Formats: sequence, C-alpha cells, structure tokens
Amino acid sequence: MKPDKVIRPREKGDVPDDPLSRMRHSASHVMADAVCRLRPGAKVAIGPAIDNGFYYDFDTEPFSPDDAERIEAEMRKIIAENLPFVRHVVPRAEARERFASRGEKYKVEIIDTIPEGDEVSYFQHGDFIDLCRGPHVERTGDIKAFKVLSFAGAYWRGDERNPMLQRVYGTAFESQADLDAHLARIEEAKRRDHRTLGKELDLYSFDDLVGPGFALWHPKGAFVRYTVEDLIRRENFRRGYELVYTPHLAREQLLITSGHLEHYKDNLFGGMELDGQRYLVKPMNCPFHIAIYRSQLRSYRDLPLRYSELGTVYRYERSGALHGLLRVRGLTMDDGHLFVREEQIADEIGACVKFALEMLELFGFKDFDLYLATRPESFMGEPAAWERAEVALRSVLDKLGRPYKLDAGGGAFYGPKIDLKIKDALGREWQCSTFQLDFQLPERFALEYVAQDGSRQRPIMIHRALLGSMERFIAVLIEQFAGAFPLWLAPVQARVLSVSERAEPYAHEVVARLRAEELRVEADVSADKLGAKIRRAQMEKIPYMLVVGEKDMAARVVSPRSRDGQQPAAPLEEFAARLRAEATPPRPGSRSETPRDPVALQSLGPPSANPPTKDN
Ligand SMILES: [Zn+2]
Ligand SMILES: [Zn+2]
Repeated sequence: MKPDKVIRPREKGDVPDDPLSRMRHSASHVMADAVCRLRPGAKVAIGPAIDNGFYYDFDTEPFSPDDAERIEAEMRKIIAENLPFVRHVVPRAEARERFASRGEKYKVEIIDTIPEGDEVSYFQHGDFIDLCRGPHVERTGDIKAFKVLSFAGAYWRGDERNPMLQRVYGTAFESQADLDAHLARIEEAKRRDHRTLGKELDLYSFDDLVGPGFALWHPKGAFVRYTVEDLIRRENFRRGYELVYTPHLAREQLLITSGHLEHYKDNLFGGMELDGQRYLVKPMNCPFHIAIYRSQLRSYRDLPLRYSELGTVYRYERSGALHGLLRVRGLTMDDGHLFVREEQIADEIGACVKFALEMLELFGFKDFDLYLATRPESFMGEPAAWERAEVALRSVLDKLGRPYKLDAGGGAFYGPKIDLKIKDALGREWQCSTFQLDFQLPERFALEYVAQDGSRQRPIMIHRALLGSMERFIAVLIEQFAGAFPLWLAPVQARVLSVSERAEPYAHEVVARLRAEELRVEADVSADKLGAKIRRAQMEKIPYMLVVGEKDMAARVVSPRSRDGQQPAAPLEEFAARLRAEATPPRPGSRSETPRDPVALQSLGPPSANPPTKDN
C-alpha cells in the first residue's frame, strides 16, 4: 500500500500547510498584534503553530495569569476588524530596514540567517507586520474559537545563554465545541500527568544533589519497573534472544570507531582519564554488543544472533529539555541487536515489529501509527546500501498489511528505520518502539561471519527497542492508566484494612497468606477510622481493599472491594487462589488476555481494575 507522506517543516517556525495549522498560525500573528497593542515596546520573536495550538515569544515583562483575558479581549477586537492578511515579498535590505525601524531586533536577526538567494517575505494585517513564509488564512475574521492558555519563560533560540523571553501559549479550533473538548482533554491530561502522579503515588523522584535528569526509583515505582522488565526478559527468551550485560564506561576509541563521538558529540557525558586512556560514559548499547559479537569467529549457522539487554545509557540533554521521566539524562533501554545475513532481514525485522505490537497490546495500547523513516541529510555509508535497506523495510511493512507513513529524511545516520508510535487513552502519540537497519556499524567494526562456501561475509545489524526506555514507557503507562495500574502491574495489589484492634492479628495473617502466593499485599492496622483507611487506599489507587473485622476473623473470610465496587465475602483460601490467578502477568499472542481498554475520556473516574483474564 502507498504510504502517506509526513510533512516535515523545513525549520522551526514553518507552518505545515493544513487548514487548522494555517488558522492557528494566523491566530499567533493576531495574538502578537494584541500583545504589542497592550504593551507598546514589546518585541516579538517567533510564533509557530505547534501540535494542538500555537505560541508566540515576546521580549517583555513577565505576564501574569490575568493577562490571558486582556489578550483575548484585544484579539477579539482584531478579529472583529476582519483585516486581510497581505503577503509582501521584498528585497532583503528593505525587509531588514522595515523591522529595524520598528526596533524588532529578533526579526532582524532572523533575516540575517535567511540563506542568500532565498525569498524574504512578510505578512501584514492592519499595522502589524511579521516576517513569515506563511501560509495564512485570508482575513483575521477567519479565526474561529480560540483561547490563550498559559505563559512560560523560554530562551531565545532555546539557548540558555540568550535572553529569557516570555512565551504565550494559545490554541484555536474550527468551533467552540471542538475547543471545549480540547480544554477538557487538557484538564484530563493534567490529572494524568506522570509528574504529579509520580509524587502522589510515591513512584520516583529527582534530587538536585544527585543531578537533574537522573531518576530515583522509589520502592513502588521500582516494582512497576521490575514487573515490566521481568516480562521483557521472559519474552526475549521465548523468542530466541540471548541476554547480555555490558559496562557503563568504555574507551573513547570504541565510540570513535562506532561514529558516535562524531555524530553525538553534544549528547555525550563527559570523559575521564584512566591509566593514560580517555574513557566516556555509554550513550548507546550497540558498540558493546558488537564487541560481544567480535569476541569469536561466527559462522553462517550462528545467524541470526539476537542479543538483548536492559541497558542503561547516559545522554546529555539541556536542562530546559528535561521533562519528568519522559526526558531524562540517564535511561534504561529495552535494547536488542540482531546480527543477520542479508536474506534474513525481512523475516527478522518482521518478527521484531510483531513482537513490539504484541507487547504493547498487553498494556492496553491498541492504536498504532507506523512510520518508515528514510535517509537523512547527514548519513554514513553508500547510497546503494541505503537503497537496499529501504526496500527491505518497505517489504516488511507491506507484508504487515497495516497502513504506514513515509517520513522522508527521518532515518538515523547509520540506516533507515521503522518507528512505531502508540496512541494513549487521550489520543496522544508516543514514540516508543523503533527498528533500525544498519549496514554501517558492521562495516566500521569489520564484522564477519564464515559463509557456507567458506568465504568471509559481513553481517547486517538490526537495532530494535520494543517499549523504548523504561523511564519513558513507565511515564506513558502512568498517564495511560491515570496511576491506577492493572492488578498485575500495581505496586501494591491489595491492602488489608483492620476494623478494630482485635482484628489486627487476622489482618497480619491475611497478609502473610497472600504474600505466600507472591502477591504484593500490605496491612493498614493504624488507629485511624475505617473511612480514613479506605480513602487512603483509594488515593493510592490500590486495586483491592480487604476489610477485616472480628466476624471475618471468626469465619476466616475476607470482604474484597475492588475499584469496581464491593464483592461478596469469600473464604480466605478461595480469595487467595483467585487473586493469584488474576495477578498473573498476561502473555502476549492472545487477544483475550489483553486488559480492558483504559478509561475513556467521558468517564472521568480512574480506570477500573480489570485484571487480565487468566490462561486456563
Ligand atoms: Zn506567519
Ligand atoms: Zn543500537
């Protein structure tokens, strides 16, 4: 099937040419005009359309929350004036002079970076002019439902050495109903924000003393991660992978040979000198797995050779780019490297994509977008090898029978790739899985295998990540489930709440019985009222509460209360067996084992604990 083409803006600030982006970008011009009318002397920087809205950066005093209404009121006036957007193409010197005379130094700076020979254009509505390639709607009156959303500080050109500008975020939609639905989605996203929930549920934290971007996994977050990692390791084994472990440091020469030093210079964590050698912190697992491959002479019979590692890597990110667990400086990849013969490419990549889809479905993700990313501007190796690799990836996608999009120029520097993005419960897209073909690294490391005819041949490498990094994937899971993990993933699966002091010994007994089944259960025998204990367990989104009083103790029963509601009392032994079965991690490959869809947006409560149905 023919892939859709991904529109790749030439640079930040370019407007994708679709009606909604056009209107949003036009709204950003109107917002800039409104701010300049309200604050004469404010300087404008850039104002692109972004996913779900737009922003504009200003050099002005910080805004306060009530500025939003004032800006909106001014924008409404400009929209009511129904001014036409007029495009002017002018000689560079004239454009420079126009913006310079208005004191718009950021625009002048942008004009000076436009390559010689490129057209210089600006758009005008009323008295307001903005350096811009467009496109725009015809008149300000074409801007429909809009809202000023929030304010933030942002460095000019994203560089902390530059002055801090004031960013205003806004959005615009075709109708008020669409805007309202979007605002409800923003509220719901806030409720699910993994940074808030991470704190409330005591899952992880960051500590300035440790350093920004280095996550500390608290016991509960660590348990969720352990459960995910355990599942990954077992599934890797089942599918013919070998587990490996590799170090966190290596000689600089390793990364010179691999090309990472050249291509990832800005993201490498500082070096250190040891015994007259320079060492670097590991940014990628690949060169290390290659070193294992190279440790002995391989035969064609050894291939495909599949290594997997939950490998921790360190990559420098600007502090402004860090974002909870989604963007960190230390991350653990669920990494895999396959060494294959050319005729094995299609089968192996196909199996990788299937593996990832099955894993993601286990976590309740059902919507996927597939992308084929091809040769970027900066690349290693021969165009002919790229051509062959791209043909192989296309054949995998065609066989898969799912639609996919073409991301021209989006490949890694060492080879083309297939990216798999998941859509979460709010319809947001997350990139987790990636499958990359690589003819370059085997060349750089002169990897070989002995072919059937005795000749030496070069293997091809496949880099693949199924869930991506543990940090990112668990952030996505927290938001997907709004912190209410399904039973098998929940860090505390059940809590026993004692009604009175006399029921306390029984509460401990129930915990011991369930722990013997390897269930993660704890007791709340505090002196608090039962209502308070229940509220606490609900806040912590624990799947099961087991309230025990003296009567339960005498009858040796428990009265379970799941997130769905109260269940009839059951004998302790029977409940223990049932919970054990419900809490067994699902196995991929069978749809009936997929947990129920996480909560839809309309029902604003947390998703119910619907444990995956059990293998019989
Ligand atoms: Zn514009
Ligand atoms: Zn790799």
